[in-house]
Amino acid sequence: MKKTFTLLFSLALIGTSLGQKDAAKFREIYSQALTEQQGFAWLTELCGLGPRFAGSEQATESILYFQEVMDSLGFETRLQAVKVPRWVRGPQEKAWLVQGIDQAEMAVTALGGSVPTPNGGLKAEVVEIPSFEALDSLNLEGKIAFFNIPMDPSFISTGYAYGSAVKQRWAGAMEASKKGAIAVVIRSLSSSINKYPHTGSMAYADDIKKIPAAALSTYDAELLSKTLKSDPELQVKLDMRCEWKDSVYSYNLIADLKGSEKPEEIILVSGHIDSWELGTGAHDDGAGAMHALETLYLIKSMQIPLKRTLRLVWFMNEEFGLNGARVYARSAKANSKEKHVIAIESDGGGFTPKGLSIDASDPIISQLKNYRSLFEPYGVYQFSKGGSGADINQLKNDEIVLIGLRPDNHRYFEVHHSALDNISAVNAREFTLGSATLAALVWIMDRDDLCLPSKP
Ligand SMILES: [Zn+2]
Repeated sequence: MKKTFTLLFSLALIGTSLGQKDAAKFREIYSQALTEQQGFAWLTELCGLGPRFAGSEQATESILYFQEVMDSLGFETRLQAVKVPRWVRGPQEKAWLVQGIDQAEMAVTALGGSVPTPNGGLKAEVVEIPSFEALDSLNLEGKIAFFNIPMDPSFISTGYAYGSAVKQRWAGAMEASKKGAIAVVIRSLSSSINKYPHTGSMAYADDIKKIPAAALSTYDAELLSKTLKSDPELQVKLDMRCEWKDSVYSYNLIADLKGSEKPEEIILVSGHIDSWELGTGAHDDGAGAMHALETLYLIKSMQIPLKRTLRLVWFMNEEFGLNGARVYARSAKANSKEKHVIAIESDGGGFTPKGLSIDASDPIISQLKNYRSLFEPYGVYQFSKGGSGADINQLKNDEIVLIGLRPDNHRYFEVHHSALDNISAVNAREFTLGSATLAALVWIMDRDDLCLPSKP
């Protein structure tokens, strides 16, 4: 009895000292990251190069520029060719609220992929659509359809609120065109009321007439809705010069930090390098791309040993077709010499990290939850099951552990896909906590083999 007690006591002591050592390592990683803030310096540089819309020269130039940075840091880099669609916003996108001879300009932006209006624009009466359920009973023949479905402010997760309203953006043109509308304007998917319109991808179907599609700022959507109530015959004029061009080639950027014992096993950290072109994509997803780079940098500069290869992937064109992620997943599947065991994505902005969403087996999720006390001092405590990221989800199979970084999301949809998504919207400390969280996560998962063992 006494022996058992002594054994348990000494095991508990070892456990505590290991726990303390792990906590000290976490402290070291977070301290180093916050002291240096190297990732934020790179993010500032990246945003200084301009927007990175897929297919644009700037997107490719940004990749080539940072490939050199990564080479100089001693990572093994390579480019992977990705064919991407090429849609160009054009020099003009304007909308006016017209009442008789009075015209008031509204803040508007074309949705990504929209066809242009005829030269000189188009003008028509407007039908407001408060929900998809209301659509059935409405006559849209010859009219401009106005989807005015706000993001539900009662949701705690703004991501869910976005999800509940985003159908008007991707399906609005198809649904309105089926009912005879000549154009569609939607309320921007934003959680605040202001004059900044938010773009994003939309879709057409081959058998439905393609009509121009645009987003009004939330301020103008409210104004239009209010004015329509007193003047149902008002008109909206829309003039957009966007156009489709031939597809072009761009790249995924890949950088490896080779593992010492199992270099063929890959732990992937990622973000997407393309952005919308109204802002400079500081949060979406410059922050995620730089979280990945700073993770590699911290592991290397702090000489943290990894058994497995840590790989950065900057995916091209998440926003407009996931082309880069699909190309990468195909090549990963075809390569029998490598095995992806863990894939991590940051695509929720550069705000304070709150947790991780984990797409893995229950035993792995509960093992990860055992580490919660190590992350808690840094405000990272929400470990939830399911959902990781759109890009790494292409790698999903029965064995890989997929993890998404989950930052605070209350401000994300104020800037997302708008001209407000610039470096001034990113706080250096909040952003840096994300990189430190991923570096600590990679270190401990690799050390404790927190993935399914490879088959011999
Ligand atoms: Zn994104």
